[in-house]
Amino acid sequence: MTEEYKDAYVLRCPYCGGTEMIQTFQSAYGAVSAVNNKFSGRPLYHTVCRKCGSVVRSYVKDPEKLLKRKDRKI
Ligand SMILES: [Zn+2]
Repeated sequence: MTEEYKDAYVLRCPYCGGTEMIQTFQSAYGAVSAVNNKFSGRPLYHTVCRKCGSVVRSYVKDPEKLLKRKDRKI
């Protein structure tokens, strides 16, 4: 079972109660960077409710990679 698949069924939309989620991701201009490391752009993933389209969750995969190499825990 992939991480995406698991996410899709654990969440419940707080707006309409829907439980079917669509995984989306945003890269390039939508990238997220740490404030002190602007070259660390990471794609932003969104979990979108299939029923009402609300973005239920937004997250970055491998958040440690946002940090400068010397500041990472792993
Ligand atoms: Zn919804």
